[in-house]
Amino acid sequence: MRIHRTDVLVIGGGGAGSRAAIEAYDSGVDVTIICKGRHGLSGCTPNSASEWMAYGVALGIADPRDNCEMHFRDIVSIGGYVCDHNLARIIAYESPDRFRELVDWGVEFLREPDGRFKQVMSDGATYPRACGTGADTGRQIMDALKRQVEERGITVFENVMAVDLIVDGGVVVGAVGIDTESLELTAFTAGSTIMATGGHGCMYKYTVFPEGMTADGYAMALRAGAKLVNMEFMQIGPCVITPLKFDVGGILWRLGPRLINGLGEEFLERYLPEELTVKEVYNLKSVTFPFTMRNASGYIDIANFTEIAEGRASGNGGVYFDLSHVPASKIESEASIPFKYFLEHGVDIRRKPLEIAPSIQHMNGGILINERGETSLPGLYAAGEAAGGQHGADRPGGNSLADCQVFGARAGRYAAERASKRIVKPDLRKAEKIEDEVRRLLETDGSHSVSEVLKDVREMMWRNASVIRDEDSLSKTYSSLHRYRRIVQSDLSVDEDELVSALELRNMIDAGLAIVLAALTRRETRGSHYRTDYPKKDDENWLRLIEIQMANGDLK
Ligand SMILES: Cc1cc2nc3c(=O)[nH]c(=O)nc-3n(C[C@H](O)[C@H](O)[C@H](O)COP(=O)(O)OP(=O)(O)OC[C@H]3O[C@@H](n4cnc5c(N)ncnc54)[C@H](O)[C@@H]3O)c2cc1C
Repeated sequence: MRIHRTDVLVIGGGGAGSRAAIEAYDSGVDVTIICKGRHGLSGCTPNSASEWMAYGVALGIADPRDNCEMHFRDIVSIGGYVCDHNLARIIAYESPDRFRELVDWGVEFLREPDGRFKQVMSDGATYPRACGTGADTGRQIMDALKRQVEERGITVFENVMAVDLIVDGGVVVGAVGIDTESLELTAFTAGSTIMATGGHGCMYKYTVFPEGMTADGYAMALRAGAKLVNMEFMQIGPCVITPLKFDVGGILWRLGPRLINGLGEEFLERYLPEELTVKEVYNLKSVTFPFTMRNASGYIDIANFTEIAEGRASGNGGVYFDLSHVPASKIESEASIPFKYFLEHGVDIRRKPLEIAPSIQHMNGGILINERGETSLPGLYAAGEAAGGQHGADRPGGNSLADCQVFGARAGRYAAERASKRIVKPDLRKAEKIEDEVRRLLETDGSHSVSEVLKDVREMMWRNASVIRDEDSLSKTYSSLHRYRRIVQSDLSVDEDELVSALELRNMIDAGLAIVLAALTRRETRGSHYRTDYPKKDDENWLRLIEIQMANGDLK
């Protein structure tokens, strides 16, 4: 196995990882990024799109009453009071500085005719504070960060997937990475390691996450012994499933679509209590993109989910979002950003219905961090979507891009500070153990294929651990995931060209177990976590954060 030594190892080259690397480098240490895909092209930051991809920042431009304190309060209240208030406050108060930095680095956030930044309303915000460049703000942010990384000459290993963390005497001292093309293994040793691997969407059948987002960071952290937090909370939104992935947000709901199932029936009304009209829930949905039980917009996701789960899906497995009854001029003028975006991708929403499904869009929990980005394991830091505690049951729109910059910078700074005080000489036998496990995967001549297990896991997670959850289906899912875990350990058939997928599958199963255990544990309904058997919020018992940790292979 090759060995690469660095001061700060950053795993993941998205918005958070790149920002962390820049800060660590500027603190005067040697920095290495390893990135499973191409730097600047992989992960959610450059590959996500919605009608107004938002960076949340309290500038008080659109409404002078807005300020950082309001932003902080919004994070806590929309989160159902189950986030770390300290971390939430840091995002709110430091987002403006990180925003100005992005502007200096060339991100062209849209402006009003008078030159001030355009700010619009986003989910869970009391005042308009969502800045953006249009549908693909994340890509512009990523381009700017990549330029900064390149200007500094930071070492980047592309197409290298971290397999597991190297833990020596309870301290994280780097990670073993595998080149996804040559399958060559390298031990990256480091004084500090920052996990910035993004989220988990690909473990679900329906997701707007790009390829490769297989919960690797959560799983590696778990196996190393770090704590995860709030894993039951995630964003599941109505998203276009084909021919492109796209969040269906406020503007499109305000047009008043017709939701039609595969049998040609309009179905939403059947799911609404008598006192609610379709128009009222659309109005709520237009300011509440992801599924939540915080308000009645959740009926839309419950209806879409049930139609699909009960077998009345559209041709490609979703439900139709039809705008053909809406005057074309209204679509062109009132929904110009999504209208043009779809047209550029060959879809004319004036004529053809979209197909949507409740799709996983973001993880609100993650690896538990403190205000320095430190995890519960010495030597390991986390930032961005890989990290948890900053947000609770729901998160305000635009907060993730801001979070990545704020905690990316913090993790980079403190990781560099720690690394500069240490000379790491890890026991490389720990890395060799990881190598042995990879080889064992290849050598096992089992009876199950990677694709077969993966398909089952994705289907099961979507059905039982997304919009609608209950004790019975979660318990069955937990047992099934354990069974799949044993299969991966000893009964999987893996060719060389499936090795990376097998490693990803292992990660999705381990992280899936944490999600399901957290969802089983929280016997109440709060925000994005809807338990049909415990349909009410229960502050008396559950006004707290659930932490999950692995010890000797068992989760608790
Ligand atoms: C459709 C969509 C719309 C969204 N809209 C918004 C919005 O409007 N506002 C907002 O704030 N947020 C939004 N989000 C969420 C936001 O885009 C993400 O949370 C954020 O970009 C995550 O950044 P990150 O750096 O943490 O992870 P990512 O950008 O996902 O980067 C992860 C990186 O880790 C790498 N990686 C993964 N596993 C490994 C491994 N094992 N080894 C090495 N490298 C690895 C990947 O290759 C990638 O480089 C949206 C998300 C989606 C999917």
